[in-house]
Amino acid sequence: MKIHEYQAKDLFSTYGIPVKKHRLCFSVAEAVSAYKDLGEQQVVVKAQVLTGGRGKAGGIKLASNEEEVSSKAAQIIGMTIKEYQVEKVLVTEAVNIVSEYYVSFAIDRNKKSALLIMSPEGGVDIETVAVETPDKIFRFNIDPMIGIPDFLARQFAFTMFTSIEQVNQMATIIQKLYRLFLEKDASLAEINPLVQTAEGQLIAIDAKMTFDDNALFRHDDIRPLAELTAEEKTEVSAKEKGFSYVSLDGEIGCMVNGAGLAMATMDMIKLYGGSPANFLDIGGSSNPVKVIEAMKLLLSDKRVKVVLINIFGGITRCDDVANGLLEAFRQIETQTPVIVRLTGTNEKEGRALLQNTRFLVAQTMSEATHMAVEIASKS
Ligand code: GDP
Ligand code: MN
Repeated sequence: MKIHEYQAKDLFSTYGIPVKKHRLCFSVAEAVSAYKDLGEQQVVVKAQVLTGGRGKAGGIKLASNEEEVSSKAAQIIGMTIKEYQVEKVLVTEAVNIVSEYYVSFAIDRNKKSALLIMSPEGGVDIETVAVETPDKIFRFNIDPMIGIPDFLARQFAFTMFTSIEQVNQMATIIQKLYRLFLEKDASLAEINPLVQTAEGQLIAIDAKMTFDDNALFRHDDIRPLAELTAEEKTEVSAKEKGFSYVSLDGEIGCMVNGAGLAMATMDMIKLYGGSPANFLDIGGSSNPVKVIEAMKLLLSDKRVKVVLINIFGGITRCDDVANGLLEAFRQIETQTPVIVRLTGTNEKEGRALLQNTRFLVAQTMSEATHMAVEIASKS
């Protein structure tokens, strides 16, 4: 789970990592009143979207008076950064930057430990630094039994700074960021850039955190910070209905019983040159209520041009499934072509029930998939 910069900065504050004062604003008027409220000469107006690279996209602008705050906020609110529409901005005190550094904690799965990553070349080009001058990126695995005691924190800090004044600040930031990373079950806690100001202060002017979804249950304070995309909302509501659903970007909606068969269906669609719109395992039963819910889910995705229902009747009998489908589609209004492939117990009876109905009936999985790919490519 990702969170916004302003949310991550609030967590930083709680843990004593230095950040500047800020105000979250949803409109130009709010930005202007935040500017007055902060009482600073210079501020930065920053797009709050769940993606990086805002600076390069023009989503971060300095402003030195009310008119500038107003015009910059107007430019940023409503703009689109990597498919994310900007709905809110952060107005924050500007900093006099002398140099920009990078510091983060991530999980190193190979070493089964947290990994501290630091670089004296932080800022918007950190990816280029990593590729072109990898020797400027320092990595330290943290032994979970030892953590980061003072001597280690100072040792790490000395790789970045020579002045004891900065070393001490850096060592504290490293320890606090590590505690935050650990205590909140984060998968990433990143400061890019951590800046040194003209006054010699180290301050986090950006903040990025992601959390392990599987640990969210034990963090009542982190869970509510989630801001789900439309796709994620659909996946959550599917889960509540007992489906296992993953949205993809293709055109063929799939409804399958069993995860293995669902994977095989997606593979076959790809093999025949099509692309699946989703993974959907509706589980064992053929209950019409479930089919209706599953169809609604598939049809809510406007990219879906054809639906492929692939059912293996083991304990579930194919004629039951066919009756379930017929009943379900009495209640669903859609022009979308629906292909059904039934195999297993009572498959002949099942297929017979679907002949001369709104369904396109296929006998084999290969035949069904071919039909789906062809329809999708023509419509
Ligand atoms: P990102 O592009 O999404 O990573 O957004 P950042 O918050 O990291 O900002 C991008 C860049 O904008 C930083 O690397 C800084 O160079 C610049 N920037 C951000 N805040 C300030 C500020 O207060 N003062 C100055 N002078 N530059 C800033
Ligand atoms: Mn940044």
